[in-house]
Order: sequence, then C-alpha cells, then structure tokens
Amino acid sequence: MDEDFQEVVKFHGHSCPGIAIGYRVAKYVKDHYDRAEDEELVAIVENSSCSVDAIQQLLGCTFGKGNFIFKDHGKHVYTFYSRDHEKALRIYFRNVLPRTDPAAMKRFLAGEMSSEEKEGFMKLREEATDYILTAPDEELLVVRQVDIPAPGKARIHPSIDCQECGEAFMEIRGRTAAGKTVCEECYQKFVL
Ligand SMILES: [Zn+2]
Ligand SMILES: [Zn+2]
Repeated sequence: MDEDFQEVVKFHGHSCPGIAIGYRVAKYVKDHYDRAEDEELVAIVENSSCSVDAIQQLLGCTFGKGNFIFKDHGKHVYTFYSRDHEKALRIYFRNVLPRTDPAAMKRFLAGEMSSEEKEGFMKLREEATDYILTAPDEELLVVRQVDIPAPGKARIHPSIDCQECGEAFMEIRGRTAAGKTVCEECYQKFVL
C-alpha cells in the first residue's frame, strides 16, 4: 500500500471505496498543482462522504483552518482554489463504480448480514477500492481549470452570552425567541 494511502486510512479509521476516491483526487492535486510551500490551497467539496477525510489529511485543507468549504450538493466534485495564482482546478470523480445496493448497505450497517453475505459484501468493496487505487487518472477523473471568485476567508466575530443558557456564542448566529437573544441550540428548543 502506498505510504500516503496508509496515512489517509489511519486518519479515516478504515479502508473503503470512499476514502480511495478522496485519495485519488488529493493525489492528483499533489502531483499536478505546483505550488509554493506556504501557499494556501482552499478545497471546496460538494459532498460529505468518506472521501473528504483524504482531502483534509493529504492536502492540509481542513475544516478548522477554514480552507475547507463544504457545499451540500451530493456530488463527487472537488475544487481547489489557489489564492496565490487566483485559479482553480475542478475535479469530478466519474460514476464508474457499480452502485452499492442501498438495501444491502442498510443491512450491513445494522449488522444484519449473515457472515457469508457479509464476506461477499466486503469482497465487493475491497475490489472497488483496489480498482480506484489502480485505475489511470483519465478513467476516474474529469479535470478542468475554472474561474471562480476567491472563497471568503474565515472571519472572526464578537461573542455575546445567550440569554437562555448563558453560554457565549458568535453574535451573528444569534436568534430571537420569547423576547430573548439566544443561541441556535436554545432557539431549536423554543421552536420544537
Ligand atoms: Zn470510509
Ligand atoms: Zn443558549
């Protein structure tokens, strides 16, 4: 197993087709995006599957640093914006894998498979992972340069105390309920 992939699996907790997808995307960026050491890359991911862990681990684009943006589109599209070059690379991971039967996946997650069925299921997933790890880039990835506006930088906002629970939160996330300014968590309790 490639050293980078080993690291990614360690970070993610298991090997699976999803993490292999993220690995191939991140690896492509690593190999083709020539950038300075200290240059900041911003990742915009359009799904929240296993794959995004590989993006964070391999490329250092992380949720906490703010150079990792999630758009809930349910697509295997990953865009990487270089602040220094003001250009972006958009990578679409082709729908090349046989679909996992959703009913089988549900039974697998619920631990309802017989050991025989589970073995077959795991074998299919391993084969899919191997295929993703070894197929040529052209078979898996559709890559193009795109013109996108610079993603906003992470901003810091002042905090205020919630008038319900007393915990501090970012002022611009405040809600009003029952005449009080409250945090989102308390607001949810008021409206439910
Ligand atoms: Zn996974
Ligand atoms: Zn509160």
